[in-house]
Amino acid sequence: MIIDCHGHYTTEPQQLHDFRKKQTEAASKHQQLAPGDLKITDDQIRESLEGAQLKFQRERGTDLTIFSPRAAGMGHHIGDVETSIEWSRLCNDLIHRVCTLYPRNFIGVCQLPQSPGVAPFECVAELERCVTQLGFVGCNLNPDPSGGFWKTKSLADREWYPLYEKMVELDVPAMIHVSASCNACVHGTGAHYINGDTTAFMQLITADLFKDFPTLKFIIPHGGGAVPYHWGRYRGLALNNGKPELTEHLLKNVFFDTCVYHLPGIELLTKVIPIENILFASEMVGAVRGIDPMTGHEFDDTKKYVDKVSWLSAADKAKIFSGNALRVYPRLGARLKAAGLSA
Ligand SMILES: [Zn+2]
Repeated sequence: MIIDCHGHYTTEPQQLHDFRKKQTEAASKHQQLAPGDLKITDDQIRESLEGAQLKFQRERGTDLTIFSPRAAGMGHHIGDVETSIEWSRLCNDLIHRVCTLYPRNFIGVCQLPQSPGVAPFECVAELERCVTQLGFVGCNLNPDPSGGFWKTKSLADREWYPLYEKMVELDVPAMIHVSASCNACVHGTGAHYINGDTTAFMQLITADLFKDFPTLKFIIPHGGGAVPYHWGRYRGLALNNGKPELTEHLLKNVFFDTCVYHLPGIELLTKVIPIENILFASEMVGAVRGIDPMTGHEFDDTKKYVDKVSWLSAADKAKIFSGNALRVYPRLGARLKAAGLSA
C-alpha cells in the first residue's frame, strides 16, 4: 500500500470560497457569519475530487491520502479566534464528508483554530472533536499564525504545552505547516512554506521539548525545508548549543516528507536522513502544478522519484511508502482496518 501523508483539499467547491469571502468581510466589521450559510452537496464534493486527487491516485498508483483542508486557506490571521473556530470547524467537517464518501481513499487530518496572540490551548477542543468524533488521525499546526511576521512564541515554549498534552493523550502527530503569507516580500509556497519548515526545526534544536514529551511527533513537510540540504550546519548548531547529535536529540520525534519536486532532492533526502524518518507525500494537488519539461512528468508526482533512487531496497521503500506512516500516525492502522484496507 502507498500512503501519501500530505494532501490538501485544494479543489474545494466554489461555495466554500464564496463563504470565506463573506466571512472575511464580516470579520473586518467584527461580525460573525452563520455557518448555516454554506451549502455544498455530496455531488459537488464528488465532482471536485474525481478529476483531481482521485484521478492522480489512480494514475500514479498511490492508494490513500492523509487529507486536510487547504493549508493556504487556513488563514489564521483573518478575524479573531471566534472566526478561526467557525472556519476550522467548517473546513474540518468538509474533510470529514470527503473521508466518509471515499473511506478507502482519504483519511482526515484537521486544521486547528489558531489565532495570532491567542494561546494554543484554544485549539484543544477542536482537535479532540476531530479525532474522537470524526476519526481524524492528526492535525496541521501552524508555527506562525500571523502569516509571515513570526509574532508567536517558539514551538518549544510552554504556551504550546496544553496542545501537546492533548496530542500525546490522543496519540496523534502534527504536521508543522504554515498558512498563507501576508508579507509581500515572502512568497507563500516558494518562501514562507520552506522558511516555516526550517524555522520550526531550528526552534526544536535549541530546546529540549522532547524531554518533556518523549512520544510527541512532528512531521516537517516539503522535504524538511532547508534542513536536509544543510544537515551539517544543523548538526553543528546543535552541538554548539550543547545538544547531542540530531539523531538522538530530534529524530525520534521529527519526520520529513518527500515533497521535493525533483530526483536529486529525493536522493539527497534519502542519503542524509535515516529511512525511518522519511514519509512518502506529494502534496497534490497543490504547490507546484504542471509538467516538468525536463522529465515529461508532473512535478508533484513524487512516487516516480522515490522509485528511481537506486540504493533504496524494497524494505526501505516499504517503510517510506507506508510503514513509517503507520508508526507516526498510530491511529491510522485502525482506520485502514475499518475501511477494509490492509497496509
Ligand atoms: Zn501542504
